[in-house]
Amino acid sequence: MPGENEIPELKKIEPYRTPKGVHDVLPEDHQFHTYIKKVIRHRARQAGFKRITTPAFEYTGLFARGIGEGSDIVSKEMYTFEDKKGRSLTLKPESTAGVVRSYIQHGMQQLPQPVMLFYIEPQFRYDRPQKGRYRQFWQFGFEILGESDPALDAQIIQLANKINEDLGIAGILELQLNTIGTPESRKKYIQVLQDFYVGKERSLCETCKYRLDKNVLRLLDCKEEDCQILAKLAPPMGDYLDKESLEYHDKLKSYLDELGIKYTENPKIIRGLDYYTKTVFEFWDSEKGAQNAIGGGGRYDGLVELMGGEPTPAVGYAAGMERVIASMKREKIRVPSKDNLHIFVAQLGEMAKKKCLTLIDDLREAGLKTMGALGKGSMNVQLRMADKFNVPYTIIVGLTEVREGNVIIRDMKKGVQEKIPVEKAVDRMIELIGEKNLDRYTPGELIY
Ligand code: AMP
Repeated sequence: MPGENEIPELKKIEPYRTPKGVHDVLPEDHQFHTYIKKVIRHRARQAGFKRITTPAFEYTGLFARGIGEGSDIVSKEMYTFEDKKGRSLTLKPESTAGVVRSYIQHGMQQLPQPVMLFYIEPQFRYDRPQKGRYRQFWQFGFEILGESDPALDAQIIQLANKINEDLGIAGILELQLNTIGTPESRKKYIQVLQDFYVGKERSLCETCKYRLDKNVLRLLDCKEEDCQILAKLAPPMGDYLDKESLEYHDKLKSYLDELGIKYTENPKIIRGLDYYTKTVFEFWDSEKGAQNAIGGGGRYDGLVELMGGEPTPAVGYAAGMERVIASMKREKIRVPSKDNLHIFVAQLGEMAKKKCLTLIDDLREAGLKTMGALGKGSMNVQLRMADKFNVPYTIIVGLTEVREGNVIIRDMKKGVQEKIPVEKAVDRMIELIGEKNLDRYTPGELIY
């Protein structure tokens, strides 16, 4: 037996991998994230939206009530756990419920209406992992709370459309539009639909058999072939909706026409969540159809009240970042990268290393993206590294240069070198890289 103070022998273990269904956002994809966020922030600001971030987890009841017990998310996709005091918490599967909670909690009803909020945050769903479907994914979305008018629905659709245009993917997306009326008129239709499916249960997929009691509307947008055949035969929802919802929908369509936004009317668009009223819409990838909607939204006039607030109409939209990026890549869209380095600093000897520490700092402060190999390594090894990092310039500081107070600047493409005094290095590099290419950090102005 090993003694108490003996260190146990380290056994080689299998390296850990990400849990099933989640992925790292690696630097290449972060370039897309950065670009998309920039577009979102710009479009949001332009239209008067302010950013909000709600916590990554909330009380489970919030989602159960807000999204609805019968929804796919609540019935099977939530990451629910108990904290040490036995409270049931859930990682957020979508953001609207949290935003509405926050609107009520912070008295946003007292603010001038509508309150316009946007978010960019990760979501968690115990979904069946496949391409474009993950267990942690990023969503960006917009909510307009406090006013009801089809012009607002049109504006939120237009905003989504503009973002798709900015990202270069509008051409491959189709806007699918529907109205699901008020909850009262829907109740009538739900009964009609349940009656329609009586005796047809055996032809339904397992999920739809379960949905039959809990959320019969979802049977209309099931992707299974047999379910689709039946859905086509089902009585159309439009025949049962209230007059006001239908008029509202006609107005929305006339506004979309006015804005020049094309749409396909699709009575099978239901959206998974219980809280929608009237307008519902999705952006479909024209190649992949419903399987891979990149985003969707709609009106949810009853949700604020359902969550304990004053009756407040609202409309929202959310899109999935991973699917947007996949569409951008398919369209061969490249985003500008600011990760490229300007300078590699190579040095030799303790004295040179010391000098280079300040030199590197001065270069960076001037906005020159600089890295140095300050570990060990011969000059040749360092120059090979500079090559691999694909920098346009290398600054070389060897023993002679330290003694002379000089540095060598090597143009990596042309293979030519120049020797200049160290105190002139920063200015010379700015000249070579060009003012407009500098990455200068300018902190925002503080107001006292
Ligand atoms: P939903 O609220 O479910 O319609 O989701 C809105 C958008 O989020 C979808 O259109 C997708 O782009 C994205 N999304 C939803 N679920 C997932 C998932 N499991 N993995 C990746 N993206 C998702």
